[in-house]
Amino acid sequence: MAIKPILKIDEPILRRKTKRVNKIDRSILQLIQDLTDTLEKADGVGLAAPQIGSSWRVSVLWLPDEEPYAIINPEIVKRIGEREIEEGCLSLPGYQSRIKRAVSVTVKCLGIDGAPMKIRATELLAQALEHEIDHLDGILYTDHIEGTNKLYKVEERAQTSHDNPLVINQPSQANLAQASASGEKEETNVSN
Ligand SMILES: [Zn+2]
Repeated sequence: MAIKPILKIDEPILRRKTKRVNKIDRSILQLIQDLTDTLEKADGVGLAAPQIGSSWRVSVLWLPDEEPYAIINPEIVKRIGEREIEEGCLSLPGYQSRIKRAVSVTVKCLGIDGAPMKIRATELLAQALEHEIDHLDGILYTDHIEGTNKLYKVEERAQTSHDNPLVINQPSQANLAQASASGEKEETNVSN
């Protein structure tokens, strides 16, 4: 059990691509525990290893009303559609911006037991997966800010009301229509 400090965006390790895990040994299990403990304290939906100073390709996701779980060596193998949503990051507390994310993603990874997992996700889970896998590639959500969108400070009150690094708005009707018209809209489905 260890709650680690969450590194802020000026830390160089947040800009480095992580190393793939070859063996899920005690140190990796400890890392997963530390990520889980730290994420619980921060009350976020996801945390990636570099955010607590580790360069392994590991992240923990913890969606509201669900159990936390680790994703090891995750890769996005499919992205469908595009939507604009609000996003924030535990490494840049108090700020958010609107950015573009996929409507749905498919991720391949290993679970904590080393078994291959395929996760098909939409909505908050899709956003969290893209955000965490970006971290594992040294990318921050601020890299996705474009056009007239700007980083803005979240009001004190709003911040405490959700205290959640990822805030999601419904995908626009246009995006939803596009996704279903192409017959590729997928259900949120976590399997292992
Ligand atoms: Zn983040």
